Amino acid sequence: MAQFFTIALRNFLKGPTTDPYPFGETYTPENYRGIIAYSPELCIGCGTCEYVCPSGAIKLRHHESGMNFSYWLSTCCHCGNCGYYCPTDAVFNSNDFHTARAQSEKYDATINDDIASVQCSRCDAMIPRAVDALLARAYDEITDTVRHRASLCPDCRRLEQFERMYL
Ligand code: SF4
Ligand code: SF4
Repeated sequence: MAQFFTIALRNFLKGPTTDPYPFGETYTPENYRGIIAYSPELCIGCGTCEYVCPSGAIKLRHHESGMNFSYWLSTCCHCGNCGYYCPTDAVFNSNDFHTARAQSEKYDATINDDIASVQCSRCDAMIPRAVDALLARAYDEITDTVRHRASLCPDCRRLEQFERMYL
């Protein structure tokens, strides 16, 4: 009995050993795969994330003035494929573990963003921005020539290539 009281007193003096969450801070382990985070400024609309997503949580759609990225939390299985394969780190699993939602909010738990686009430097076509993270994967050095070519839409790039070779 005395031993019981000793342990009880020691535990009482030590205080709680569990996290005080939700009344205080808690933590998530490194590499925790929570709700995905998305940056439209870095996204080039390549569609890789949609292709590799096993649960169909990501959809990319074309619309009149560009493209739209959407993510539905209720469908995401937090596998991490989208972040692993995204060439520009525009999408990744954050450490936000607040995935529980009321049934009535089920269809609101989404990310919905238009993908940043820019005008082709030679014509009126709107194209996804060529971000440095992508150019760095393809070129050893991001020169002015690289930047110029990346600023062209596919049609103008072909035209310039033709002009370079034959005119
Ligand atoms: S973490 Fe997996 S399931 Fe969730 S959006 Fe990314 S690829 Fe899809
Ligand atoms: S989030 Fe990444 S993988 Fe998905 S479309 Fe954008 S750049 Fe491509």
